[in-house]
Amino acid sequence: MDLAIRLDRVVKRYGPITAVDGLDLEVPYGTCVGLLGPNGAGKSTTMRTLTAQAIADEGEIEVLGFHLPEESKQARAECGVVPQLDNLDTTLTVAQNLLVFAHLYRVPRGERHEAVERTLDIANLTERRDAKVDELSGGMRRRLLIARALVHRPRLLLLDEPTVGLDPQVRQELWALIDLLRAEGTSILMSTHYIEEAQRLADTVAIMANGRAVATGRPAELIVEHAGREVVEVYGPPDRLAEAEQEAARAGLRTRRTGTSVSVLGVDGHAPEGERRPATLEDVFVLLTGEEIA
Ligand code: ATP
Repeated sequence: MDLAIRLDRVVKRYGPITAVDGLDLEVPYGTCVGLLGPNGAGKSTTMRTLTAQAIADEGEIEVLGFHLPEESKQARAECGVVPQLDNLDTTLTVAQNLLVFAHLYRVPRGERHEAVERTLDIANLTERRDAKVDELSGGMRRRLLIARALVHRPRLLLLDEPTVGLDPQVRQELWALIDLLRAEGTSILMSTHYIEEAQRLADTVAIMANGRAVATGRPAELIVEHAGREVVEVYGPPDRLAEAEQEAARAGLRTRRTGTSVSVLGVDGHAPEGERRPATLEDVFVLLTGEEIA
């Protein structure tokens, strides 16, 4: 299979901390893969190894067919990188920020103007082209960060937590933008700790915990495999919840506590009494990472 990204048993340590611990990951061309995991799972470190900002201690990394870190320059020339932290130049206007990157990414002089116009249009910022960056809203800044990564028509886009800290409406706008790029065939690797974001955008999701991918697959497949089709929510006082947990354990069913309820996963026919609902990617995430969702 032709892969835009291939990680094979990658390890990255920071002193005593193993941030990435034997990670295998594949991003086929033309697909969007979501790296989903709780804080500290190793998502950002993984993203940094792909741009050679972090050098893996073990394992193999290939980006667009180039071996890293030896060929990281060639790989970066064809990648668009959207960092988690906004590092736009606030002394420049929107269009100037794009022009600087068109220059840095060696877009030929005669094509730079077109590149700026095209990316302004993609990010829906044409009307704000002459605004200074610090006059933009948070959502606009994030759209500009993405636009800036696209000036050289990269084949692969690396998005590190693209909507972190944004309100839900702005998040939706960015999802539409990322969806558009995916529909155009750009290969995308995106890290996120928002389950809905991974479910909405990614063809394949890799759930990370403790530096490893603990499950990889299409969201619908992951749900069926790990949480079954249906979940029963049992509500009640603590002793009723404990009872439901014991009952489920006897039936070989997995459970998760969600504050005031117990979710019994993978029910099929026999089930404790409660409210039935379809299983979700959140059930899988909690089950595999042990994290609770706020
Ligand atoms: P978040 O969503 O909080 O960014 P993450 O899944 O991206 O989490 P990483 O940032 O990759 O996780 O961090 C993984 C582990 O590696 C954490 O324990 C973190 O403290 C540690 N770590 C990451 N970068 C460094 C560094 N430069 N020096 C030391 N430890 C680091």
